[in-house]
Amino acid sequence: MRKFFLCAAALAAMAACNNSGSSKQSNGSDSTLNNAFSKYEARFIDALWKVSPDWATSVGYHAYDSVLLVPDSTDAQARLAFAKQQLDSLQSFDLKALSDANQIDYQLIQNYLQSVQWAINEQKSNEWDPSSFNVSGTFAFILNENYAPLETRLRSFGSRLQHVPAYYEAAKKQINNPVPELTSLAIDQNTGGLSVFEKDFADSLKKTTIPAAEQTAMIANAKAAAKAIRDYADWLKALKPANPRSFRLGKALYDKKFSFDIQSSFTAAQIYDSAVARKAFIHGEMVKISRQLWPKYFGQAPIPADSLELVGRMIDTLSVQHVKPEEFQSAIEKQLPTLIAFIKEKDLLYIDPSKPLVVRKEPAYMAGVAGASISAPGPYDKGGNTYYNVGSLEGWPKDKAESFLREYNQYILQILDIHEAIPGHYTQLVYANQSPSLIKSLMSNGAMIEGWAVYTEQMMLENGYGNNAPEMWLMWYKWNLRAVCNTILDYSVHVKEMSKEAAIHLLTKEAFQQAAEAEGKWKRVSVTSVQLTSYFTGYKEIIDLREAYKKQQGKDYSLKAFNEKFLSYGSAPVKDIRLLMLK
Ligand code: ZN
Ligand code: ZN
Repeated sequence: MRKFFLCAAALAAMAACNNSGSSKQSNGSDSTLNNAFSKYEARFIDALWKVSPDWATSVGYHAYDSVLLVPDSTDAQARLAFAKQQLDSLQSFDLKALSDANQIDYQLIQNYLQSVQWAINEQKSNEWDPSSFNVSGTFAFILNENYAPLETRLRSFGSRLQHVPAYYEAAKKQINNPVPELTSLAIDQNTGGLSVFEKDFADSLKKTTIPAAEQTAMIANAKAAAKAIRDYADWLKALKPANPRSFRLGKALYDKKFSFDIQSSFTAAQIYDSAVARKAFIHGEMVKISRQLWPKYFGQAPIPADSLELVGRMIDTLSVQHVKPEEFQSAIEKQLPTLIAFIKEKDLLYIDPSKPLVVRKEPAYMAGVAGASISAPGPYDKGGNTYYNVGSLEGWPKDKAESFLREYNQYILQILDIHEAIPGHYTQLVYANQSPSLIKSLMSNGAMIEGWAVYTEQMMLENGYGNNAPEMWLMWYKWNLRAVCNTILDYSVHVKEMSKEAAIHLLTKEAFQQAAEAEGKWKRVSVTSVQLTSYFTGYKEIIDLREAYKKQQGKDYSLKAFNEKFLSYGSAPVKDIRLLMLK
């Protein structure tokens, strides 16, 4: 590692000598070097889109819409060559001499390229995860997103179609003893996307003036593509692998994946230990609060001897306080001005009044996930609106709506607004857009983004949001426990062989979740890994950083300054922000 660095420094020094006669820079302000780095970034992104055309399409760069790469060994070699070449170019820059913003970009690019090498050389999920092969997402995107005239999009669709049979032939050649859970997922997801090829495409063609003969040829290709997808699903169904791989990732792969995806200064095992300690702390606090609240809600009734049962009963009782189904959307919307006023009053951070959040009813294509989410414009669509999508409970059966509303009771609903909107995800996004970097938006760090949203929940309550009501704190602890237990669950299942029974026990008895929610979480952890740890890891690292910053600033410390400075670096890994912030 050290040797590596020396080489990079030596190369950078040579480059600086050769490039121009400009005098040597003091650190962080060499505009020649930073200009050269910006040019490199542009070349990097051009090259990236050539090897990742689907990704390009999904973020709004449409030059490669008509390209579908066949995922064979030639393609893997091309991606490895790309990674090696780009890493070489990257190492010609002296990291420490770059501006803060470019140092973060450098780290993000390097991490990405190394993760490409690792995925191909070591993780090899193409051999055991049949769901990694699926063409329908990008086809559906091209068909449904209205970014260009329909005929243009359909012609892109048409040329990609021709490669679908070869795509799935290449997939079959690589798969070997696949994970059963991921095989089922692949069958469901691939056949789930068939209507795009068998119906939607032909329906759209009819709306155009594309000549009939051309249309006929395109429809024949769509049929062949659909057949290739069905054949793939049938082939997967018939597979009887002798030694199917376990869905559990195992420690070696997990540790590496964690380091690439989360980019934490901690190892996965350290984060797991912190989560276990945090769970014990939260339980202690919840028991204290529940004891305190008991007489208010249960009068003279005896307090349950089992402390987790005590907490569970308190939560159930408080959950009954929820809005009416028809008021779900308006209740969420009404809270936003209250949150903004509170942040101003307490001077927690600057909220840009020129960037109001557009609240809208969740569009139909987001299909049925009630609750709330943020839709931000892609990096190539700067002018686009940011929406706060709020789901509607219209037409829900009474008992389903009731169960949902108890989960999102009047306390949790406020926490949800803080997390998703202000000062959580939405506010973070507004700050991130002030230091625009294509690299940071393409390779944004999920743990920082989720961690910030979780951190703001606590930050608001610490500053008196909700009038310090014990009910509010108890409900927040339950919500925070979800993030904590996501981490415990993910690591335990993938590294420590946790059984399903133990997992359900953790979620229902120790994290107070409903059976249906716990069952859904088990499904999620059987087909994903690492992502569930992002919420708690980011949260913990931000809280730790705030402590360190507080110490460093001494009597000059201000929470507002911390929040604003932290956000000013964009959606970067907390460990990189930490280095720059404490410098
Ligand atoms: Zn009710
Ligand atoms: Zn979130």
